[in-house]
Amino acid sequence: MTPIRIAIVGMGKIARDQHLPAIAGNGDLIVTATVSPHHPGEPGIPHYKTLEALLADGPLIDAVALCTPPQVRYDLAATALAAGLHVFLEKPPGATLAEVTALERIAATSGVTLFASWHSRFAPGVEPAKSWLAGRELKSVSIVWREDVRVWHPGQAWIWEAGGLGVFDPGINALSIVTHILPHLIFLKSATLSLPANRAAPIAADLAFRDIAGTEITMDLDWRQTGPQNWDITVGTDCGICKLSSGGAVLTLPTGIQQLEEREYPALYERFATLVHEHRSEVDTAPLRLVADAFLSGTREIVEAFDD
Ligand code: NAP
Repeated sequence: MTPIRIAIVGMGKIARDQHLPAIAGNGDLIVTATVSPHHPGEPGIPHYKTLEALLADGPLIDAVALCTPPQVRYDLAATALAAGLHVFLEKPPGATLAEVTALERIAATSGVTLFASWHSRFAPGVEPAKSWLAGRELKSVSIVWREDVRVWHPGQAWIWEAGGLGVFDPGINALSIVTHILPHLIFLKSATLSLPANRAAPIAADLAFRDIAGTEITMDLDWRQTGPQNWDITVGTDCGICKLSSGGAVLTLPTGIQQLEEREYPALYERFATLVHEHRSEVDTAPLRLVADAFLSGTREIVEAFDD
């Protein structure tokens, strides 16, 4: 089959670290162009400062992968979809829920694929955890996502601005896993968001959710963690504990520990190619809904100012 010609839009950290290598390892796709206002591009690949310039003067493409901050993603996605291109959205799929719904409508009208990717759902422990949890009685769920923002997001101004999500930028990854593996729908009960005095987005958050069967779910997000980092989800059940750690790369069940091979982005691009070939879209806004609810109904506390 002819490879899907794809342009990477937004040549930042995730595009360079994950998207380019994942596409290079997938025979169903080929990077045909890149777009980024300041990045110089990659050797041998046509580069443009704007999507409009690529569409006007560039090589023919079939798809775009949008790796920009969420605040600018809607206009890029709408332009690409209206031009008949398939669209791969980095997470979160948008800065608001309604704009993602609008994109779904445009994709359906244009007859192209819209893929709202959630890379953490492709962590290798996630599907085995989901299978193990199916049919079990849940007792409790604890999510602890504590990392050092200076290590993982140095100098990323957009992440601290409105729509950048702050500590929910990694926290939404945990919610993408939980909303996939737990057998029941979950909803927010309470949230406290800790905002640095000089920032528009939270540096930490304490949240409580409940599922429709009554199981309590706690979530501890903190970007001020130094030393060992935590990306853990622990589910207590009637048959023992299921724990995903290292963001889903390590699975602990009553039967033992499994350290699994990490291939989130290769698996994401396999899914994207399948969706394109099958003329389907995949857009699940459940993780973004929970974050939106935390911003909608959470209480705020102002904490010490944060500088990079
Ligand atoms: P980043 O390093 O700040 O990169 C974002 C890039 O977007 C910048 O390099 C910028 O390009 C480009 N950009 C901004 N506005 C643009 C526009 N209008 N058109 C085209 N390009 C534009 O951010 P990142 O860490 O890669 O994160 C990007 C997205 O990926 C976020 O939604 C994030 O949640 C998600 N993500 C990040 C990670 C991670 O570990 N970093 C992991 C998974 C998912 P210039 O440099 O050329 O100005």
